[in-house]
Amino acid sequence: MRVGIGFDVHRLVHGRELWLGGIKIPYHLGLEGHSDADVLLHAIADSLLGAASMEDLGRLFPDNDETYRGISSLILLSRVMDRIRARGYSIVNIDSVVIAERPKLAPYIDDMKREISGALQIAPDRVGIKAKTSEGLGPTGIGEGIAAYAVSAIEFI
Ligand code: MG
Repeated sequence: MRVGIGFDVHRLVHGRELWLGGIKIPYHLGLEGHSDADVLLHAIADSLLGAASMEDLGRLFPDNDETYRGISSLILLSRVMDRIRARGYSIVNIDSVVIAERPKLAPYIDDMKREISGALQIAPDRVGIKAKTSEGLGPTGIGEGIAAYAVSAIEFI
């Protein structure tokens, strides 16, 4: 059994769609980034790569590579899973926290679990997602960005 941690943060800006956990969420701001900037999926992908002691997401899919401009992070996540599986690992479980002052994410959690477990080809009950605020403190608290943490456990089979 191996465990990995992932973290990511992206800035909220005008003129971008908001994608979180593979779901497009109605909001007047979106996350800035080269891909769809899905901060939760990036944290989860990095936690999986970390558990397998592999190169991180930014090195596998560089943000100066035009191939990945605007790409859905669900595609990146499924490609990460292909690499994890190729090394002989399967996922035990994933847990994660999204830190966003706004919008409220609770209504979208079940849909996010469905998208993430689908991309990883695992049962939805192996994916944990918690939505938290920063109680108004710091960059996430004043709404400058959204952050996410993830932990993954994988096992060699
Ligand atoms: Mg990112």
